[in-house]
Amino acid sequence: MLAMNYRGPYRVRAAEKAEPRIEHPNDAIVRVTRSCICGSDLHLYHGLVPDTRIGSTFGHEFAGVVEEVGPNVATLKRGDRIVVPFNIACGTCFYCQKGLTSLCDRANTACALMGGAFGYSHTTGGYEGGQAEYVRVPYADTGPMVVPPEMDTEDVLFLSDILPTGYQAAEMGEIKPGETVCVFGAGPVGLFTAKSAWLMGAGRVIVVDGVDYRLDFVRGYANVETVNYSDAGGKDIVGRLRQMTDGRGPDVCIDAVGCEASGSFMHKMLGMMKLQAGAATALEWAIQSVRRGGNVVAIGVYGPPFNLVPIGDLMNKGLTLRGAQCNVKRYLPRLLEHIREGRIDTKGIITHRGPLDAAPDFYEIFARKQDNCIKCVLYPNAA
Ligand SMILES: [Zn+2]
Ligand SMILES: [Zn+2]
Repeated sequence: MLAMNYRGPYRVRAAEKAEPRIEHPNDAIVRVTRSCICGSDLHLYHGLVPDTRIGSTFGHEFAGVVEEVGPNVATLKRGDRIVVPFNIACGTCFYCQKGLTSLCDRANTACALMGGAFGYSHTTGGYEGGQAEYVRVPYADTGPMVVPPEMDTEDVLFLSDILPTGYQAAEMGEIKPGETVCVFGAGPVGLFTAKSAWLMGAGRVIVVDGVDYRLDFVRGYANVETVNYSDAGGKDIVGRLRQMTDGRGPDVCIDAVGCEASGSFMHKMLGMMKLQAGAATALEWAIQSVRRGGNVVAIGVYGPPFNLVPIGDLMNKGLTLRGAQCNVKRYLPRLLEHIREGRIDTKGIITHRGPLDAAPDFYEIFARKQDNCIKCVLYPNAA
């Protein structure tokens, strides 16, 4: 089969690879019809995620058709059209029973910090990803959701990650009616976080990014105020946000960037020396600009090692800091309703579509923020 293939930092290609097989009675094999490139895939692409092995296939946001199921799979059958959460979770362990499928105890036994995920290095279990014609889906009764027949695959594709991730972030912010929410990052997750903040009763939503076309897009898409941190001279971003909010700062600040914000020199140096897993600039801005007693949410991906964050500010300002990978499964019914009712236009953010062969170009375009790119979707095996 054809699959995206990682060859080292900044080098990916589409290449032939052996098709996956049923390895366990709970597995399913899925023919992938849609597969996205995620902002967090860029952390892999840039070589920032530990133990990302040459030859691996990325891709944790995909939908497709069930091709084959193992003998123990009870809820799926050949021919079912499904969307698959990025989490790989057993469904029965201590964490899964609490709905915390991103923290599954069994799916990633090599790491005590987090559960399994598709196509996201050996730190999340070494599973092959869905930027491929076929993919093996372990614990197939736990994650996948059968797509309602009247719905288009692209309507539900982003239930695999970015929509629930944005929604959970807004939820963790515990937004009270009328509050001001600031989202750092106007990438796809930032867009859905902003949308979700409105759904949760925010009175104002401000999005911060450094790229004009992304800010233009989010203004149109989510009806938000925007700030370009490049215009604000980077360092002034905290002052700028205070100025916009009666001198106090936003009530809730959400970091939807992760470890690759264009950071300060210090952050960059520490990142290069691997003392911290990339620059934590967005999180630092979130902590510094939120009002006293406010809530900060970190959903951008950071690697496990130390990151330089102003922990003293957190304590002195009386902040609540929460972070999580999304527990996708538990949000699916609610978000499916939001999509069905037209409250969230999911496919409206897709700017690039193409075959698997387009993967190298798409990674580059997305990473360089060229061609007004917001979201790339591959069609690996759509026939
Ligand atoms: Zn993702
Ligand atoms: Zn589990």
